Amino acid sequence: MSKISGYPTNFIRQIINKDLAQGIHKMVRTRFPPEPNGYLHIGHAKSICLNFSIAQDYQGECHLRFDDTNPAKENLEFIESIKRDITWLGFQWNGKVRYASDYFEKQYQYAIELIQKGLAYVDELSPTLIREHRGTLTSPGKNSPYRNRSICDNLKLFSKMRNGEIAESAACLRAKIDMTSNFIILRDPVLYRIKFKEHHQTGRKWCIYPMYDFAHCISDALEGITHSLCTLEFQDNRRLYDWILNNISITVHPRQYEFSRLNLKYAIMSKRHLNRLVTENIVEGWDDPRMLTISGMRRRGYTAASIREFCRRIGVTKQENMINMEMLESCIRDDLNTNAPRVMAVINPIKVLIRNLPLHYEEMLNIPYYPQKHERGTRVVPFTRELYIDGADFQEEKNKDFKRLILGQEVRLRYAYVIKAEGVERDAQGNIIVLYCSCDMSTMKKNPSDSRKIKGVIHWVSAKYALAAEFRLYDRLFNSPNPLATEDFIKELNPNSLVIKKGFIEPSMRCAKASFPYQFEREGYFCTDNTHSVVTHLVFNRIVGLRNAWPKIDA
Ligand code: ATP
Ligand code: MG
Repeated sequence: MSKISGYPTNFIRQIINKDLAQGIHKMVRTRFPPEPNGYLHIGHAKSICLNFSIAQDYQGECHLRFDDTNPAKENLEFIESIKRDITWLGFQWNGKVRYASDYFEKQYQYAIELIQKGLAYVDELSPTLIREHRGTLTSPGKNSPYRNRSICDNLKLFSKMRNGEIAESAACLRAKIDMTSNFIILRDPVLYRIKFKEHHQTGRKWCIYPMYDFAHCISDALEGITHSLCTLEFQDNRRLYDWILNNISITVHPRQYEFSRLNLKYAIMSKRHLNRLVTENIVEGWDDPRMLTISGMRRRGYTAASIREFCRRIGVTKQENMINMEMLESCIRDDLNTNAPRVMAVINPIKVLIRNLPLHYEEMLNIPYYPQKHERGTRVVPFTRELYIDGADFQEEKNKDFKRLILGQEVRLRYAYVIKAEGVERDAQGNIIVLYCSCDMSTMKKNPSDSRKIKGVIHWVSAKYALAAEFRLYDRLFNSPNPLATEDFIKELNPNSLVIKKGFIEPSMRCAKASFPYQFEREGYFCTDNTHSVVTHLVFNRIVGLRNAWPKIDA
């Protein structure tokens, strides 16, 4: 099978190849089944890339189906965000957007079929007692006293449940399988529960809602899904998936295959926990650039191509794993290193005054966006008597490791002249307010004529023309490599995950493209923050630094 998506083979593709070769299937149909109870994260991107790339490469189909069986936690905002994120990632589902709730009536009829076959019953044990009767991994469960009701009573009670005549938690429908099974999932799992909740798709039509396990396999079968791909925690659920499809009169029987979830160090992935960060205002929202949600990564400046490349590199296996953050970062760096135009910004500004230049000296330099590639465009960068350089690029004392500007010594201004630091002026607190320099006017694009060696090159902007800008420097959100393995992940938050700096950027950035990534020379990759207007208040998010800044031990 020719591959157009560029994803390597994996054990699932090998199963598909075999199924096609043996004629078990003529075409492949997958699905991505998010529950709309939060925004998508990078873990979902793994599943999206897997399901959609298989459909692309096998000329098959991939459905988007919302697993909307719990109206208490779901809403339309989440549905819209999920559609937007999948589209932004570069994928398109086949046909209309689907919902498990499209099949509520059919699922209800299948539930009745199970009751009629003596394979499901209405239980009136309380949720706590149901839990207690379930047993543990080492002890078997106990039958509910309601397990052996007559089929006729079960049908009547189930119909009462549907009609809203029974209170929430007072009854539920359970499959009658085996309370002593080694698989706890098979100990008479709940199939339907009562919830007097308005549903975003079906309104008030229903007050009983199917459980995920019941709705999912039936939805897959009704849609003719061939390979139902999910993460490893559903391995045991596969037995229930198969039990339900084997016991209802449906001829299509999709096969479920499990792969390992994506886990990233220093991050959390589950929507439930991300939701807590949002609702407790620990982050700015679902699209906070520190969150590994698709919308957060997009706002931060990650490209869709870099996320797809990351999913390609991590591959799909059954091995549990913890991926290093630097793998994700190297994907975005590889993309931006060649594709992001370069400009100059000074994040910790100190003022430089070049004393040997006339008061109103101005020189308009034409500088390429891509060094060595003038054909990809240039911009005008004004060089004037007063400049800003970064405080970190100047030191008064000599130090053999410091290759930038030192009092009494020289450095090259990127794309411009060699300057020499001659003196500093300080305020009452001892902070440098002006650094006095001189400029060697014979050094534009040339080395000094007398073979002085200039070691360092630093970036700068014109104080007269530069634009004030805010720079948001992000770091990992957590200090612990596995925050969810700790007592309370909130305690593991990194207090320095966001540092805001006020600095300056060259005037060409007045027309910065919104949400477009740039390389700020020597500083990193940045893009404008889309929650601020680029016209009134320039705010840049740091996507990633130029080099890996993670401790070596983590590599
Ligand atoms: P969460 O715990 O974040 O809510 P979930 O599995 O409950 O995750 P769903 O909306 O039900 O979220 O997931 C939709 C699909 O995405 C499922 O098939 C699920 O297996 C897959 N998925 C979710 N998280 C990951 C992950 N970290 N890595 C790979 N696939 C994932
Ligand atoms: Mg879920």
